[in-house]
Amino acid sequence: MCGQFLYPDKFSHIYIEERAFDHPMVNEVLSSFPQSRVIRIRHYKDVFNRPGQDTGLQSKSKNLILAVNEGKKIFEASPVCQDFGYGKFYYVQSAMNCIFGCDYCFLKGMYATSNIVIFVNTDDYIKECEAKLTEGPMYLCASYDTDLTALSTVCSWQETWENLALTHERLTVELRTKSAVSDTKKAPNLIYAFTLSPDRIISEFEKGTPSLDRRIESVNRAIEHGAFVRLCFDPLIYVKDYELCYNEFADKIIRSIDLEKVKDLSIGTFRISSDYLKNLKRSCPHSSAVLFPFVREDGFCVYPDDLKTKMISILAERFEGAGFGSKLYIF
Ligand code: SF4
Repeated sequence: MCGQFLYPDKFSHIYIEERAFDHPMVNEVLSSFPQSRVIRIRHYKDVFNRPGQDTGLQSKSKNLILAVNEGKKIFEASPVCQDFGYGKFYYVQSAMNCIFGCDYCFLKGMYATSNIVIFVNTDDYIKECEAKLTEGPMYLCASYDTDLTALSTVCSWQETWENLALTHERLTVELRTKSAVSDTKKAPNLIYAFTLSPDRIISEFEKGTPSLDRRIESVNRAIEHGAFVRLCFDPLIYVKDYELCYNEFADKIIRSIDLEKVKDLSIGTFRISSDYLKNLKRSCPHSSAVLFPFVREDGFCVYPDDLKTKMISILAERFEGAGFGSKLYIF
């Protein structure tokens, strides 16, 4: 079984690049973890990319790496990402890896470590973003290679992206999370995207994440504060009695959240690049979420079409029946 990370009230070790010490975010992070052992390093890749790491063991006690990103920071999103109709769709890499440990997470397929990198040169990121904005409006997914909201107890990246959206109306920022976020701001170009799953899926496959009830409470708090809220039912994960599981889930969502006040709803089934799936199987060898006999489609592993359609239609039909069909995005 994949390891369950205990919430990072302390990272036992914090690796810091020599050149990162000048950046204020280093002190900000260290002040929250006074017990951690600080180790100076030359380059984050010396630790992050070290060969032969035991990701299963690391996932039970993740360490933190603070680094300077001198390379590209903002990237065009992959075609399997949800662009919600925005032409220029980008993601930003402010951090890599996540404090949570979902069995099906593509990050496990992408990185050979469970440790988390946080880049601390925020000013360089802001400059790159502002330069891109001169080319036209931009939709930026700020929580792509991580769950930035969950990391907001560790660093102030979420606030940085929120403030940038508040001061640049051509920039739309999406903050996607499985955490129970408590703080949101109100602006039409700042989208808080909550990923919701049935409790059974959470306990089986989304290790370390808050329960559905806690996530629903956060959604309702955000709505109360006037935030622009997106609900993401993605990825839907196959389990034997998926029909019952997702029907009960739809009941609960319709009962507990005022969907009238939600910006939109997205639905998608699990999909992952074939290469990442190989690594994921090594990382979570016993998880049924990754052992499914997927079919291949353009380099991605996906559920067979008929299953995909059935799974999506359970939620789609329920939301359409409740009068929210116009808010649906299906991927
Ligand atoms: S919350 Fe998202 S980023 Fe974090 S482990 Fe789960 S799927 Fe991956």
